[in-house]
This record gives sequence, C-alpha cells and structure tokens, in this order.
Amino acid sequence: MDNNEFEVINQFGEKIAPKNKNNDEIAGVERPAYKPSYNGGKYRSNSSYRTGSYNRENSYNRDKKPSDQAYSKSYDSRNTKGRYDYRTGRYTKDYSASGSYNNSGYRSNKSDYDHSRSDSKPAPYYQNKPQEQTKRQYPKKSYADALAEANMRNTPHPMTNDSQAVLFPSVSSNHRPVKRSPLKIIPLGGLNEIGKNMTVIECANDAFIIDCGLAFPDNDAPGVDVIIPDFSYLDQISDKIRGIVITHGHEDHIGGLAYLLKKINLPVYATRLTVGLIEGKLKEHNLLGSVKLNVVVPRQTVKMGCMAVEFIRVNHSIPDAVAIAVHTPAGIIVHTGDFKVDYTPIEGGIIDLARFGELGSRGVLALMADSTNAERKGYTQSERTVGSSFEKLFDTAEGKRIIIATFASNIHRIQQICNMAVRYDRKVAVFGRSMVNVIGTAIELGYLSVPDGIIIDIESMNRFPPEKIVLITTGSQGEPMSALTRMAMNEHKKVTITPQDFIIISATPIPGNEKLVTKVVNELMRSGAEVVYEAMYEVHVSGHACQDELKLMLALTKPRFFIPVHGEYKHLKKHAQLAVDIGIPKDNVIIGKIGDVIESDGTDMKITGSVPAGRVLVDGLGVGDVGSIVLRDRKHLAEDGLIIVVATIESESGTILAGPDIVSRGFVYVRESEELMDGAKKILTAALQGCMDKNMREWNAIKSRMKDELSEYIYMKTKRDPMILPIIMEI
Ligand SMILES: [Zn+2]
Ligand SMILES: [Zn+2]
Repeated sequence: MDNNEFEVINQFGEKIAPKNKNNDEIAGVERPAYKPSYNGGKYRSNSSYRTGSYNRENSYNRDKKPSDQAYSKSYDSRNTKGRYDYRTGRYTKDYSASGSYNNSGYRSNKSDYDHSRSDSKPAPYYQNKPQEQTKRQYPKKSYADALAEANMRNTPHPMTNDSQAVLFPSVSSNHRPVKRSPLKIIPLGGLNEIGKNMTVIECANDAFIIDCGLAFPDNDAPGVDVIIPDFSYLDQISDKIRGIVITHGHEDHIGGLAYLLKKINLPVYATRLTVGLIEGKLKEHNLLGSVKLNVVVPRQTVKMGCMAVEFIRVNHSIPDAVAIAVHTPAGIIVHTGDFKVDYTPIEGGIIDLARFGELGSRGVLALMADSTNAERKGYTQSERTVGSSFEKLFDTAEGKRIIIATFASNIHRIQQICNMAVRYDRKVAVFGRSMVNVIGTAIELGYLSVPDGIIIDIESMNRFPPEKIVLITTGSQGEPMSALTRMAMNEHKKVTITPQDFIIISATPIPGNEKLVTKVVNELMRSGAEVVYEAMYEVHVSGHACQDELKLMLALTKPRFFIPVHGEYKHLKKHAQLAVDIGIPKDNVIIGKIGDVIESDGTDMKITGSVPAGRVLVDGLGVGDVGSIVLRDRKHLAEDGLIIVVATIESESGTILAGPDIVSRGFVYVRESEELMDGAKKILTAALQGCMDKNMREWNAIKSRMKDELSEYIYMKTKRDPMILPIIMEI
C-alpha cells in the first residue's frame, strides 16, 4: 500500500481512499489552474507548507457548515503526489512541492469566511488573496464526483425523519444533478445458511467481492469434503472485479478463497492475522506467491474503481475482525461481517462504534448485518467471562490433567487458557493440525503472547506429571476424526482418558452437531473423566451479536434499507423483525436469497433479477465434479446397497456362455441368503434366455429387462430397492 498516487479526502478532512495507480476516473479529473502569483501571498511560509505543517483547527472547523468556514488543507508533499478533495470535487497534483500552490483551493468569496473565528490564530492565507484569484475552476464530472456527492448526500433517517441529521448538505452549487450509477449487491452465499459467505458488490464498470467462505456438508452430501459457492457468475464480470476484501479469518469467510483464486487471480485485502491465515490456505493449494495479499488496518480505505471500501474494527471470536463500509456513487453500504460488541475484549480494542455512528449520521443507504444470534435476547457475554470460569475450573481440577476442547481459531480463548496455565504452573500441549497451525500463526504475528517454555511439544508431554499439563485440542464439535473424539473412543495413540482427567468442552455444538458432541461426552464420562460443558458453566461465549447488539448496530447506522445476512431463513426473518420493531419500514427490509440481484439507484432498493448461484461440492481434488446425479447415486448406494449381474453371451448364436452371476455389496450377506440369491438367478436366467429366444441383440434393452425383473423380484421378497447394474459381455 505504498504506491501513493493520490488520496481522497472526505468532508471531515479524513483520508478515505488510499492510493491506487490505476485510477483512471480520478486521475482524469481536470486539474485546477496553477496560479504562480499565489505564492506571493503572505499567508504561510513555503517551508512550513512543504513539510506539511497543517493545523487542522486553524483551517477547518468541523462543527461549522462548510459554507461558513474556511476550508483549507495542506499536505505533506514528501509522501503524497496529489489529492482529491471530496468537498470541492477537485483533484490536485503535487504542486506544493514548489510551495506555491494550495492544493485544496481557496474560498471563492471572502465573505464565506468568518474572521471572528480565528482571532487568536494566524491570519488565514486567503485574507491576502488577490481578487483576480477568486474565480474557481471546476473539474469535469466523473464517478469520483458522483461518489463525492453520494457521500455528501444525507438520508433523513426513516425512523425519525430527522432533518437535523443533514449535517453536510450538498455544498457547491456547481454540482449538477448526477445520474447515479446503479449499485448491485449480489449475495452468492451466506443467505439461508450459515457458511460459505460471499457477496459481490457491483457498480458501473467496477465490482469487488466481500469474503469467500466454505460450508461443511451435512448428511445430504455423503463423501463430500467441503462446499464452496458457485463462482460461475464471476466469469461474466471477471474484467470488472477489482479485488476481494475479507472480513475475518474464519473458514466460512476464507475457506473458498483458494478455489476462487485458482479461477481468477485477484488482489486480496484483509487485516494482518486474516492475511496470515489466508497464507496458510494458499500454501496448501500451492498458490502462495502468485496472489497479491494486502494487509489493511481498521479505518483504512481501499479503492475499488468507482467505489471505496473502508474497514471498521469489530469484536468477534477471532482477532482482527472488521466490518466494511462501501462508499459508492449510490450511497454508503455497511456490511458488519461477523460481529459482537465486547467492551472488555482480550485484545485488539472495542468495536469502533463511533465510526458506525458517524456513517449513520452521514446517511447509510443499506446495512447488511450478521443474523447468527438474532433469536437470542440480550447481549452476548464478554470473552472475559470465560476467563473467570476457567479460573474456578482450574482450582477444581487441582491434581488432575486438564483437557480443553475449543475452536482452533479462537485465539482469545487460547490466550486465556495459556494465562491460566502460567498462573497454575502448568505446561500447555497442543493437539490437532488446525490448532497447531493457527497457534503458530498467531504467535508469529503477535496475536498470542505466551511466555517461552509454556507451550510444549506433544512428545515431551510425558516428561511432566499429568497435574502439570493442560491439553488444548480440537474436536469441540464431536467431529469424527478429531483428536478429542479419538481420545473418547480410546483410539488416540498418545492420550488415554482416565479418571485423572478433567475435560472442558469450551464451545457450543453447532446446530446439527449436538448428537456427535453428546456421544463424545458420554464416552469421555464412561472412561471416568470429569467433563464440563457449556450448559454447566460459562466455558463458552458466542462470537456473534445478540438482539440488543443487533439493535444497537441498526440504531447507530440508521440505514434506509436493511438486508439481514449470515443466517438461516429463521435467523434472517427474526433479524428483519428486530429492524421493523425499531422503526425501519417493512418495505425497506430485504430478505434475499443467494443469486438475487439487489439493486439501488440511491433512493430505492429492490431485488431486480438473479444470477447463477448455488453450491459446488469439493471431494478430494475434484471441484464441482460431484453433482446431483453423483450424490443421488451415493445416497442410493448408502441406503440400499448394490447388486451387479454379469452374463457372457456368444453374440452370433445368442447362447448364454456364463452366468448370469450375482455380486452384491451392502445389500444382504449372500451366504445367509442363498435361497434369495438362487431365486434371483433363476429369474435372471429366464429373462435373459427369453431375450435370446426372441433374437434380441439390443444390449441396452436386454439389460433393462433383466434389471426390471430382478428389481421386482427383490422388492417382492425383501421390500428393498438396491441399485442394480447388469453387465453383458459378448464373445
Ligand atoms: Zn466468524
Ligand atoms: Zn461467519
């Protein structure tokens, strides 16, 4: 992010767009005339100007309307080549290197400036401005202008109709009405499901992607490893896509990224830890080095063509999570990503509520917000409450080995476990590949601080007595192959559960996993261990906002339109109701589904069409080759088993040389079902001989005849419907 070509300043005088070399729209803006005589003014010394000594209070008063304040700003010519002024809509190249040009222009009218306001301050430069300088030159319209205007525009709040909210009316009369480029929001995942989050934001000739996650299959996709969004729509707009922004490092937000980047190589923008976790993913797919990963920080803005993407800090169950504000010609869109409000976070600071509020008072066109916990009342507890529970449990577990199962990515939780281990003089051993990877990345990037020697190798675990050990492991969801499940089933090579174990499951079962977790808890208890889980103590808090926090977000951002995201239908519906309850008109709440094109011209917003969207199944190295037919067969095989019928026929004479023989799998145990098999064989021989006698040589017809007759016989005898595959060999 060091290619400082220009920057965009909003009406607060804040930088809102970073530099981008390829910005045609802004770079193309006509530059104001350069007035060498200006330099003769007595305002400030050139030297102070050059070094960027900009006095904010002196020249810009945020509380005053732009029309009655002096708005001037210099910049540091050492690291800025030019800038775009949002309010005046002008772009300035780096003239100040000569010390002779004031980049933000000057007030055209002396009366605009209220002298009384700066009595004690140095006389502003333009007091000495010659009259002939007062003609302003205005740049041509561009997307950037439209963007500027959109940011100026204030949407009176639907709830209050509060005209006072209009703090920044359109300032310059020179702004002709601009037809706003319609904005499209296209969710490709994450609606009506929890998983594979992905949204495309599209405007004019530019587009970008927010998140690209995966989902884990449930019982309806046997054998499938992961599920990713259908990317086929992106092929249609591939030349428009400027990049991918990622809200945080959870699998449901980054898990599909490697598959997408294999198709289209795009720059990725994310915070530091998120980039660290993405690097791990790319390494697995041999993509590291070929993808441009850009580290961003909260409050930074990245330009995506005619749009600008701003990152805003939020709290979540992984560090470095951000929400996103998209500044577009049609207005501001706020996407919360996954969030909660934690006033006492373990690390990283409190969610930037002030910024959400600021955006709200400027006017937010639409809010897209996390619906995961929309059904839960009140507030989500702070992560710190888990720490105090741990403290009590570590006391209780004195003399025993402690095993804690949690999510690999919950670095705050792991930090608290390590803190406890230090306090209770225990060593920490880490189990599970994902856990080891995430902890490694977090320590390397400074998100986890653990004194040397606390984390030990699994191999050296046996050198310490059990009561001096804390084992952190994956498997809090009862996943069949996870370390905790293998320990429970007594299949783990290195750990055997005994009554000397104190086990804490520091997670809530994800809906659908309850049975798996219960099974693991049962087995652990059967081994005599003490097991503690959420229902008993506060050993887990959610990473997602509950109703009160969701209402807070709505109240701060005051969106004109509301789009609940990140949830199953019931969550979206509940979240929509919350928005209506606090005053957003029902018609302004949009519950979408993946593939919907949600379009807005800046005043209205509605679903106007759809694009291809769905799920792509990944099985081993195959991406998308497992489709509905394959799944149907897998389910059929899994439920009813398979019968293969083999016969050899001499094609000329039609004599049956061998068979028909029957091979079955997953249907019945043949040795115990001889009678059934003999009957089946008789039926098949009769069917085949019948075909031969009629001189049938159409193999497909013969096969389907055999299949039908056998199927009928088996159903009659067993009420089962196995898959039947006849094979006829000709000689
Ligand atoms: Zn998340
Ligand atoms: Zn998520």
